[in-house]
Amino acid sequence: MSTTYITKKTLGLETVEPAVTPPPADAATAAFAKKPKVGSGRSRKKEIPEGLWTKCPKCSTMVFDKELDTNLKVCPKCSHHFPIVARERIHSLVETCSFSEMDADMVSVDVLEFTGVASYRDKLDAYQKSTQLKDAVITGIGTIGPHRVALGVMDFSFLGGSMGSVVGEKLTRLIEAATDKDLPVVIFSTSGGARMYEGMFSLMQMAKTCGALAYHAEKKLPYLSVLTHPTMAGVSASFATVGDLIIAEPGAMIGFAGPRVIKDTTQAELPPGFQTAEFLLDHGLIDSIVSRNQMKDRLVYYLDFMMHARRPGAASGN
Ligand SMILES: [Zn+2]
Repeated sequence: MSTTYITKKTLGLETVEPAVTPPPADAATAAFAKKPKVGSGRSRKKEIPEGLWTKCPKCSTMVFDKELDTNLKVCPKCSHHFPIVARERIHSLVETCSFSEMDADMVSVDVLEFTGVASYRDKLDAYQKSTQLKDAVITGIGTIGPHRVALGVMDFSFLGGSMGSVVGEKLTRLIEAATDKDLPVVIFSTSGGARMYEGMFSLMQMAKTCGALAYHAEKKLPYLSVLTHPTMAGVSASFATVGDLIIAEPGAMIGFAGPRVIKDTTQAELPPGFQTAEFLLDHGLIDSIVSRNQMKDRLVYYLDFMMHARRPGAASGN
């Protein structure tokens, strides 16, 4: 009498791999254990889990996403400024719980019933879902340091930050509110230009925003315009470049037509650094280049200076 034990060997399973293959020890932990070095081998690329690291397009350093977030999306190695969404930027500027948004539910109407590759209405729906924004700008009143400020921040992730009737109207209402309440205006621009889906209605926003700023200036209230990457076309040709002080982020592309169009039209070689913030600082279009990490402090510094004359008792030297 013999007992037959069922073993892996009797079932022919001895050499079969387990159903779940544990990952190699180095693959799962290498990315966390030590920071990869630039150009340290091609094989490492596959080992890095997606969504945790971002490669800097300027210096090719792999930056840990959390580090990038705490550094306001600025590369810690080369200071390259990554895009930042409007809410994140507002959060980095205003004092906690001091921001009250204006016209949060204003949405565009498809007046022209524009249809290209996709209809304008479909595009609006898609971008509203993907960005959780109603349109390409957030406006409101908030406090930066000791100053109450009318703040407008554009968001490039919504249809390329294009200026349609909603962007124009929200900014105009913001400026008018600032004029009524004796507040300075600070607008962060990033835009590909006017929104072609709205035709003439988008172009009219250029005049409307500048008109509101003219009334604001009549009351001797300061307007600080901050240009971020990229600020082009209809936005750069209207409210963005009429600031009392025009500030730009490092490396931002700022211009009207794109460099390729200019090159084709003029048939001339463009100078190095053409249409960058640094080039425009040298040529007098902008007043100052300020890194995102220092933006809040510098805004407070400028506002201290520009609002000083309006403080009660300032004229008598108290
Ligand atoms: Zn970098």
